[in-house]
Amino acid sequence: MSSTDTIIIGGGHNGLICATLLAKAGQKVVLVEAADTLGGLARDREFHPGFKASVAQTLYALPTSVIKALDLEQQGFIPSKETLTTTALSLTEPPITLAGARIVGACPTDAAAFANYKQQLATFSKALAPFWSKTMPRIGATGFQDLLTFGHLGLNMRTLGKADMLEFFRVATLPMRDLVDEHFSGESLKAALCWDGILGSQLAPRSPNQGVLTLLNRMAGQWEGEHSVPAGGMATFIGALIKAATAAGVTMRTGAPVKQITISGSEQGQRCSGVALENGEVLTSERVISSADPKTTFLNLVGPRHLEIEFSNRIRRLRSKGYVAKLHLALSGLPKFSGLDTPSGRLILAPSMDTIEFAWDAAKYGEIPDQPVMDVCLPTLTTPGDAPAGQHILSANVMYIPGELKEGWTDAARDNLTAQLITQLEDYAPGIKALVLGSELLTPEDLQQQFRVSGGHWHHIEPAIDQLLMMRPTYEAAQYATPIEGLYLCGSGSHPAGDISGNPGRNAAREILS
Ligand SMILES: Cc1cc2nc3c(=O)[nH]c(=O)nc-3n(C[C@H](O)[C@H](O)[C@H](O)COP(=O)(O)OP(=O)(O)OC[C@H]3O[C@@H](n4cnc5c(N)ncnc54)[C@H](O)[C@@H]3O)c2cc1C
Repeated sequence: MSSTDTIIIGGGHNGLICATLLAKAGQKVVLVEAADTLGGLARDREFHPGFKASVAQTLYALPTSVIKALDLEQQGFIPSKETLTTTALSLTEPPITLAGARIVGACPTDAAAFANYKQQLATFSKALAPFWSKTMPRIGATGFQDLLTFGHLGLNMRTLGKADMLEFFRVATLPMRDLVDEHFSGESLKAALCWDGILGSQLAPRSPNQGVLTLLNRMAGQWEGEHSVPAGGMATFIGALIKAATAAGVTMRTGAPVKQITISGSEQGQRCSGVALENGEVLTSERVISSADPKTTFLNLVGPRHLEIEFSNRIRRLRSKGYVAKLHLALSGLPKFSGLDTPSGRLILAPSMDTIEFAWDAAKYGEIPDQPVMDVCLPTLTTPGDAPAGQHILSANVMYIPGELKEGWTDAARDNLTAQLITQLEDYAPGIKALVLGSELLTPEDLQQQFRVSGGHWHHIEPAIDQLLMMRPTYEAAQYATPIEGLYLCGSGSHPAGDISGNPGRNAAREILS
């Protein structure tokens, strides 16, 4: 008998949430994290002396149910009441700002269409919302719980009413471009509205099947997809998760990379017995739950020799190439963006859907686009303490940057891209170049190295239709349990997918406790 019930691999937000819920239910839980600090892609780091930022910067997908289940408000996490505006910037059109159902700066027909568009997406998102927090039924399953989930989905679709239900089925797999083309005419507005359907995926506006579903998933939390920076920044959210885990009795070990998931075999089959750390220490437990991505978990930590050949091939074939790079700039002052009083909220620097599409075309062949597209946020407008007084941080998600650059990533390639991006920013915010004190560019390859995420992928694996729902990450492991007894998954490579939502971590804990 092992003295520990559960070992959790990885202290990103999903690992922390799963650990805390199991410990609250009475389990003895040890969490092991490779990095020196907890939080995964949401952890704070100093990227320039006096300037702190996290890769994941804003919240938009965190459900109230997760906040409540962990008493996060009691642990100091105050969800922001203020959501960020989103502003579409273009060098040829005036800025267009979106704030909830309000739109400012668009032509009258686009402005009139916007409220209806938002309302329709919110209705669809609400109908789907329960399914992101449920375990997906097994393919072909006829158990009561599985049938109940199918029944619930059917009922939610039915209560949409006939017209909305038909419309839902029509739009759910449309390319983002077709959806926004039906409603709007302004180029920069359409590009900005595509953004949350494609950000973090191997998708551009013309790609079919997945953008609208991703958007609806992102709209499912309490903010309905509107972004916010929590008071105190992402550090307050991660800090509250750590406090909740401590209060529940979770033992958290940082600087403790797992080298191997240990498997013992007998005539009854294989069973997971614990983990071996890179320092040689062996920890045993009744079960191991991995929040590392599926490729890391099965191919690196378990090893193909313990897996059925078909399963290991399916894991090997999972698509997990990331195309988002993170740019952080340390600025000596607040930049002035043309047409804006203050650069508040989220600024989308993607003048048209074609610009986005051309950037994707280059990146999919391993090249840096002539004109990358990006969203930009100045988190220090909300959390001034993250930079020295009067100074600011610019944080940008840049698409599409290939992890596997044709000529390979070198320091020179990173410096060239950083210079290219600053020049591009200078077009929108004249004078910004002179404010730059320091910078950090994390390519998908850097994200893979520094955060141990295969391919540096935003969602750990692509949230494509064949890697979603009851097929995420594969149909054998879609209910958090895996083909190896005692080994479970709880990270973003599981249903429903990535973003800071806590859904995979919460769902996995519920499944294990049921
Ligand atoms: C550039 C970029 C920007 C993003 N911005 C946002 C945003 O603003 N808002 C948002 O909601 N989402 C954002 N995301 C997505 C979000 O960050 C991820 O989907 C989310 O962090 C995944 O959480 P997780 O807990 O599943 O995994 P992770 O955060 O990846 O955590 C997994 C943890 O496991 C650890 N680990 C891995 N292997 C081992 C091992 N062998 N031993 C021990 N530990 C191990 C890792 O070190 C890591 O700490 C962004 C992603 C990227 C790439």
